[in-house]
Amino acid sequence: MPNQDRLVKTLIDLIRIDSPSGEEDAMDREVSSRLETLGLKVSHDSYQNVIAKLDGNGPPVILSAHLDTVEPGRGIKPILEGDVLRSDGSTILGGDCKAGVAIVLEGIASALESGGGNRAIEVIFSRHEEGGLVGAHNLDFSMISGKEGIVFDAEGAPNRVTISAPSQNVVTAHITGRAAHAGVEPEKGVSALLIAADILGKLPLGRIDEETTANVGRLEGGLKRNIIPESAFLDGEFRSRSNEKLADVERKFRGVFDEVASRYPDAKIDLDITNTYQAYHVDQTSPAVAVIGQALAGMGLDPVFESTGGGSDANVFIERGITAIPVGIGVRDFHTTWETVLIPELFQGAQMCQGVVSGAK
Ligand SMILES: [Zn+2]
Repeated sequence: MPNQDRLVKTLIDLIRIDSPSGEEDAMDREVSSRLETLGLKVSHDSYQNVIAKLDGNGPPVILSAHLDTVEPGRGIKPILEGDVLRSDGSTILGGDCKAGVAIVLEGIASALESGGGNRAIEVIFSRHEEGGLVGAHNLDFSMISGKEGIVFDAEGAPNRVTISAPSQNVVTAHITGRAAHAGVEPEKGVSALLIAADILGKLPLGRIDEETTANVGRLEGGLKRNIIPESAFLDGEFRSRSNEKLADVERKFRGVFDEVASRYPDAKIDLDITNTYQAYHVDQTSPAVAVIGQALAGMGLDPVFESTGGGSDANVFIERGITAIPVGIGVRDFHTTWETVLIPELFQGAQMCQGVVSGAK
């Protein structure tokens, strides 16, 4: 049985270590030392992702989470009120993904303490997951031999199993018009902001259908009130669980940019659309689902299969032939200052992880 007090203390200790994306060193040192104390052999790939192994029965099962958090994520003050952990409201909590890391540490610890033997395991704690799955993309897969596992990085209870997730394409555009004095000779100017607004008004945005979304999250440009804005920058994305629909949205985006560009021959529009991760669909009968299902069955829980609109390291793992599936880690409201961890679900996560490590039948 996991030790709930130890689990919660671990989580609070980890949350108190700042680790916004790109600044994971302190968090790395802490979890590496904890994994070594548990008896795992800890190594790093060239991107400094943490890869830790423990010998045991059968082919290794992968237990994964990420070390980084989004912002505002510095000087977080976790507050425990009854069964709910939250921040003081000025920062995120960082339960995403420190609840996942704490679950893995406690799951392993309690499985080893129970003394009934354990499966071989490979722990992957990635860096820079937020904003591009950078650590996973740079992971040295030659250091990993497991073919299935769990990514502890989804919202809700641990029996929420994410078997389908979208592809994401990132859209950036640099628009260059021509500056001119707004009061003296505005007719000589070409407003990059006006072009950007024209584009923005025509793009298909928001929820396009049940499995497809699009967004422009940032538009900036211009210098001063009295200058026709010469440059603008637009930063967006679209996602779909269907690659056909993804391609369709891309065609529509390109069509809008082309059409607007044709009406502003004096402007330059540099459009870039890049795929950042691929959609996946895992069959409910796959062995990886069975590993999770058995552990949940040992707790009297049934899996609830989910499709998500978000990406995770699982997108990259699955693309690389490792069926690692995201499960809930007791966190609500990821990436907000009102993010919470529900302790009973956190505990269930550790119980589930223990079941997997013990090789629950
Ligand atoms: Zn996360």
